Amino acid sequence: MKTNDVREYDYKGMHTTTHRELFELDNGGVVIDTPGLRALGVWEDSAGIEKTFSDLEDMAKNCKFNNCTHQHEPGCYILEMVENDKIPIERYSTYITLKNESKDVSKSNILSIDKNRKEAIKKMIKSKKNN
Ligand SMILES: [Zn+2]
Repeated sequence: MKTNDVREYDYKGMHTTTHRELFELDNGGVVIDTPGLRALGVWEDSAGIEKTFSDLEDMAKNCKFNNCTHQHEPGCYILEMVENDKIPIERYSTYITLKNESKDVSKSNILSIDKNRKEAIKKMIKSKKNN
């Protein structure tokens, strides 16, 4: 495809496509090429996540709070299951990451996560990975 030239002095950056184009793939998917796009957020609505993680969503009904984010709340059943190895830590991480990415950032309470709990979970994830 036609692209902008690479900057001569550092050969960085400008090698982007210059127009927008949509390709249909044989498998029914589409690729949209758009100038300068570097990253894509997750636009999946929460319904998709609920389907993929329906077992976790079911367990979440046992959380003490019904708006539980499963990251720091006391009485969180999901965290309890992770701590007891009932939910693989990798699966938990994916679940939380997707949940966070798909939710409206303006309403996000990620910043208010209890730091100690967050650290504890991080440590737990690290130690499991090392095993
Ligand atoms: Zn929870």
